[in-house]
Amino acid sequence: MNLCDIDVIRTVLAKHGFHFSKSLGQNFLTDVSVPQRIAAMSGAAEAGSVVEVGPGMGCLTAELCRVAGRVVAVELDRALLPVLDETLAEFDNFEVVQGDVLALDLAALCKEKFGDGRVVACANLPYYITTPAITALLDSRAFDQITVMVQKEVAQRICAAPGTAAYSAFSIYVQYRAAAEILFDVPADCFVPRPKVDSAVLRLTPLAQPAVETQDEKLFFSLVRAAFNMRRKTLVNALGPVLGDRLGKDGIAALIESVGLDVRVRGERLSLADYARLADAAAAKLAQR
Ligand code: SAM
Repeated sequence: MNLCDIDVIRTVLAKHGFHFSKSLGQNFLTDVSVPQRIAAMSGAAEAGSVVEVGPGMGCLTAELCRVAGRVVAVELDRALLPVLDETLAEFDNFEVVQGDVLALDLAALCKEKFGDGRVVACANLPYYITTPAITALLDSRAFDQITVMVQKEVAQRICAAPGTAAYSAFSIYVQYRAAAEILFDVPADCFVPRPKVDSAVLRLTPLAQPAVETQDEKLFFSLVRAAFNMRRKTLVNALGPVLGDRLGKDGIAALIESVGLDVRVRGERLSLADYARLADAAAAKLAQR
């Protein structure tokens, strides 16, 4: 059964009385080469075990079942469970866990299902939870590789370099934890219903150590957040809400200059290494007070 064939999708879903839910981000793939490429590039064959988020009616799941030893898929919508029973009946290495991926303890799920073995994560993510789902997958520290389809713009934002319009606090969060690369683009007409935006497949390879070393991770991220909360302002002004009461504006300016940056710089130009140096210098200054 080609689970990406539009006639198959319509027939199976009609038989189960299933209707797409916009609020659950249900856009199913209609081009079988896409899940095949994702499965081939996901590291599933090498790792052996896969957690999939949002199997829908199982087109990506089927491709993962073909290359991996075992696939556990987390699906929120109960109405899809009888659909998956039918569409994945030929596979005995698949299991569905009904639940919200954001509410699950993913590390505990992996431990329970796969013991200490290597696991990769894979998904055509529902748009409405892209950021929290990627955060949860990274925070779990349970996966060797995370291969997810997301809105193209989000993929570009995640991989963006300093000084570009797409560079954001989330770029820094992800790049601190993982190597990020866009594998390929997927146009909007590869889905039913057709979304308004194009997608891209993103590969995240979690790093054993963060990309940069910093003495105080909490301070590092609070400086990053403050800088991007007011990204049109200079860094001196943007850091006011975090450091102003303790260092004053002149103190913040001195801090910025002490790490070799121009006092007129905007936060969007700083690399992860710049933020790490800034956070370490700020921690040292605050400790003296
Ligand atoms: N994998 C299928 C495909 O590629 O055709 C479906 C992908 S569709 C974009 C997203 C899937 O995620 C849907 O099946 C939806 O019901 C499911 N979903 C939505 N929110 C979820 C959540 N919080 N936890 C787990 N699954 C969720």
